Amino acid sequence: MSSRRRSRTLPHTPVILAHGGAGARIVTPAQLACLADALSRGYTVLRRGGHALDAVETTTRFLESSGHFNAGTGAHLQLDGVRRMDAALMEGRTLKAGAVAGIEAVRHPISAARLVMEKTAHVLLIGPHATRFARHFKLERQVANHRRSALASARRNTSREAVTATGPQRRMLRLYRQMLGEETVGAVALDRRGTLAASTSTGGIAFMLPGRAGDSPLIGCGIYADDEAGAVSMTGLGESIIRVAMAKEIADRMAMGTSPTTAARLVLEKLDRRIRKVEGFGAAGALVLAPDGRFAIRHSTPRMCAGYWAGTGQPVVADRFS
Ligand code: ASP
Repeated sequence: MSSRRRSRTLPHTPVILAHGGAGARIVTPAQLACLADALSRGYTVLRRGGHALDAVETTTRFLESSGHFNAGTGAHLQLDGVRRMDAALMEGRTLKAGAVAGIEAVRHPISAARLVMEKTAHVLLIGPHATRFARHFKLERQVANHRRSALASARRNTSREAVTATGPQRRMLRLYRQMLGEETVGAVALDRRGTLAASTSTGGIAFMLPGRAGDSPLIGCGIYADDEAGAVSMTGLGESIIRVAMAKEIADRMAMGTSPTTAARLVLEKLDRRIRKVEGFGAAGALVLAPDGRFAIRHSTPRMCAGYWAGTGQPVVADRFS
């Protein structure tokens, strides 16, 4: 076999990246361990020759049901005390995408997003209609919605006040944590066929008005995947990410030949220059994966719970990336 032919048939080396949100909050060892576990589950799909879309869905489902993150079982509440979640996924070969916004009482919003992609002619379903759609397909429900959320938040809470507080104080702390944002989850993957995929799933940000949706379910803002450019999953303040259409802007720069690291850096700098410096808020983190397997994890927040695995050694997870 000629070397030219061999290089055409050589499989791509699979790689997967995942995040558990960017912000200022301390990342717990339990969250890092959970992220590593989620990466190895997603990678197992890729190693067996599975599709990148299945890998990001598997990883995201694991994070959604862990209760360690602001997604699925651990998703936070909006100001009226209701948990409404957003999720999206996208595949880079066909540019097909599916998303849900404001979906309620579903254990895996990411799987609802996949059903939107595969069973409808649409990209985004919202609110009660998204919830009804998930019911129609008999997606697993979140049981004892609010009690579970309180327990998940309490488990995550390692602060000293929470340990020493009693009675009403503890209930207030618990409610406060349930209202806080950050800890959104997401993933990007490259499979052996060279197909890219990206996912996001979130309970939103702190003190959201009922009905608020962020960047996570918006294609081009919180998520993008194009085999001719790259795959991106964003986390951070949705209100600023949307205005820069960050995921698409990073992918567009990669399509022009910019590396994942530089593309992410330039677009995070743009966010900083155009929004944070003017209005005093707006920071984000990005997972970026190129069609050739090069990748970057970058953030303008103090911390980002994230990691990657390309199959050798152990999954790499950390709370900061330069
Ligand atoms: N981007 C998410 C949102 O605005 C929040 C996050 O990533 O922490 O809903």
